[in-house]
Amino acid sequence: MTSRLQFRVEATARDSAARACRFRTLHGEVLTPLFMPVGTQATVKGLTVEDLEAAGSHVLLANAYHLLLRPGLDVFRRFGDIHRFMNWRRSVLTDSGGYQVFSLPNDRVIGEEGAEFRSYVDGARVLLSPERSIAAQLAIGSDIMMAMDVCVPSTSEHAVAAAAMHRTHRWAERSLAARGDAPQALFGIVQGACFEDLRHESAGHLTRLPFDGFAIGGLAVGEGKVERERFTSLAAALLPRDLPRYLMGVGTPLDLLEAVERGVDMFDCTIPSVLARQGVAFTSTGRLNLYRGVYKFSEEPVDAECGCPTCSDYSRAYVHHLIKTSEALGWQLLAKHNVRFYHDLMGRMRDHVLADTFAAYRDQQRFILARADEDNPPMPTARRRRGRNESALERFRIHESPAGVASIVHRASGEMMHGGIDPAVEANALYVEQAHLVARLAESNDAPLVVWDVGMGAAHNAMAAIRACEGTEAPLARALHVVSFEHDVASLRLALRHAVKFPHLHHPGPSRVLRSGAWRSETAAVLWTLFEGDFRLHLAAAPAPDLIFWDPFSAKTDGAMWTLECFESVFAECGERDTELFTYSASTVVRAAMLGAGFVVGRGAPTGRRPETTLAMTPAAARHADVRGRTLLGPEWLAQWRRSDAKFPLDVSRSGEAALAARIEGLAQFRAAALVG
Ligand SMILES: [Zn+2]
Repeated sequence: MTSRLQFRVEATARDSAARACRFRTLHGEVLTPLFMPVGTQATVKGLTVEDLEAAGSHVLLANAYHLLLRPGLDVFRRFGDIHRFMNWRRSVLTDSGGYQVFSLPNDRVIGEEGAEFRSYVDGARVLLSPERSIAAQLAIGSDIMMAMDVCVPSTSEHAVAAAAMHRTHRWAERSLAARGDAPQALFGIVQGACFEDLRHESAGHLTRLPFDGFAIGGLAVGEGKVERERFTSLAAALLPRDLPRYLMGVGTPLDLLEAVERGVDMFDCTIPSVLARQGVAFTSTGRLNLYRGVYKFSEEPVDAECGCPTCSDYSRAYVHHLIKTSEALGWQLLAKHNVRFYHDLMGRMRDHVLADTFAAYRDQQRFILARADEDNPPMPTARRRRGRNESALERFRIHESPAGVASIVHRASGEMMHGGIDPAVEANALYVEQAHLVARLAESNDAPLVVWDVGMGAAHNAMAAIRACEGTEAPLARALHVVSFEHDVASLRLALRHAVKFPHLHHPGPSRVLRSGAWRSETAAVLWTLFEGDFRLHLAAAPAPDLIFWDPFSAKTDGAMWTLECFESVFAECGERDTELFTYSASTVVRAAMLGAGFVVGRGAPTGRRPETTLAMTPAAARHADVRGRTLLGPEWLAQWRRSDAKFPLDVSRSGEAALAARIEGLAQFRAAALVG
C-alpha cells in the first residue's frame, strides 16, 4: 500500500530545505507547513471548535495517554470516535503516550514489553505497550497515530541513547503490526539523541519500514538551541523526500521559522495558549505583554495586521484590563489571537516557498519574531544578559548549617536568606500557613488565587506555596498563580546547580521558570511566572495579588523595597481586593511605611528566628481580620512608635514627616476597640 496520506511536495525553496506540501487524511486536506494546536484532553484550552476552525486549524493534537485514563476508551467506542465526541470535523493526530509515561517522576516500570505505571485518575496499574497504544489510538479514531517510542534526555550518554533507540525500533515494528490494515496513518519516530551515528542508524532503520511519515523525536528535551537546530537539519535531511516530517513539541514562532527552513513540515506546541495565560501576544511587530500598565489606555487592537476576532473587536486596553483582573475572557481572547498568529505565520511561509521568496521572508521575520515588546521596551535587557555568567553566580554563596541545612548568602552584604532556620520550614510557617493558603484555594471563585512572591531568592516561598497546593487532599476550587519577582536570579541558579542540597528544588518548576519565565503544572492547576529585574518596574504589569509574600533583602541591603513609595505602589495595585501581605520584618519604621501607604497593619506569627513578624491588610482584607485570627497593632504600638528615634521611612522628607505623622495618628486601628474597615 502506498502512503495513506497521498502526500505531495508542491515546491521547495531554492536556497534552503523549506517546502510546501499537501496531504489528505480521513477528514480532509492539509497544507504544510502545518501548526497543530494541542488539545491534550480533547480540548484546546480556552477555545471552542468553532474558534479553532475560524482561526484556521486543520489538525489538532490529542494525547492517547490522557484520553485512555480519562474519559477512557469505552467512551470513544460509544461515540464512534473523538471527532463526534468533541464535535471536531477536521483531522486529529494522537501522540502515543510514551513521552508522558517516560516523564512520570517515579512509580513506573519500563521493560521490553512496555511501560507500567499508576493511573493518576484511579490509582490502578496500567500497562502501556506499543500494541495497547495503537489500540487506544484506533479507538480514539485519530487520523494520524504515532508509534510508541522510548524517550531519554537528549543529553544522554551514547550507550543509553543507543539502547533507547534500538528498543524504539523494535517497538516501531510492533506498532506497524498492531495497526494492520486500519486506514489510519502511522508515523515512526526517529531517535538517537545528539549523536550523528545514531541519527543515521535510526533514520536508516525506520525509513525502510512502511510508515506514512516520520517525527523527529528526542529533541527539545534538554539540548541547547544550536544543538537542536543542527540535529533538526541532520534528521530532516535523512528522511524521505516524499513523506511528511514532524518536529514534536516545538516551539516559539522563531523556532518554527528556523525548523521550516531546515525542511520540517509539521509542528505542535502549547506555547500559544500557555503564553496567552500570561498575557503575552505574538504580533506582526514582535511579542507584547498585555499585563503591562503601558496598555491601560491603548485603543489600538492587539495587532493591527491581524484579522482575528480579538483584533477586529477589542482594544489592547480592554484585554489588559481582563488580564489584570485575571478574567478568563482575557486569556481566551489572547489564545484565539495567538493560535491565529501561528496559522497565519505558517500560511505566509507556505506562500513564500511557493513564490520562491522564502529566503527574504525568513531574514525579515527572524528579526521581527525575536522582538519583545519593542514599542514599549520594559527595561534595558542587554546589561542583564551579560550578567548571566559565572561572575553572577559568585554574587552568592551557599552556607551549610551544622545540621546540614543549606541557605544562600549574598556575598556583598553577608545577608543570609531565611538566616538561622531551615528556609523551607520558615517559608511554610511564615507565608503559606499564616496566609491560610490552602483555605483560600478552596474558596469558590472563578479567578485564580494570585500570590506575589516578592524576592524569589532560591524559590523557597514559591515552592512552599506550590507544594501546599499540590500536596493537599482538600478539593481546591481555585487555580493558583504564583508571580515571582527577583532582581537577581543568580541566587536560584546557584541553588539549582547544587540542587542536591536544596530538596525543595526537586520539582520540575524551578528550572523551568528560570529557563522560560513560566511553569505550568500538568495535573494541578498551578501557574508560576517570573518577572526578572526591578520589582517596582514590573509590579504594574503583574496580575493584582490576593496574597503577597514580602521577602526581599533587608532595608540595609535593599532600602528601596521598604520605602513609603514602594508600599504605596503595592497598595495601589491591590485596589479594592481582599489582599494580605506577610513579611519577616517587624521593624517599627517598616510598619510606619505600610500604615502610611494605606494598609491596616497587624502582628505576624513568630518564626524560629524572630519573636514577631508583620502582616499588612487592605481595608477589604481587614474586614475578615477576626475570622482569620489577625491581631492588629493597637495604641501600645502607636506609643512605641512615638518614642522611636527612627520613625520615618527614608524617602519621607522633613516636610513630609508631619503629614505622615498626622495620617498615622488618625488611623482607625489605633482608636481602642475601634471598628476597622
Ligand atoms: Zn489577532
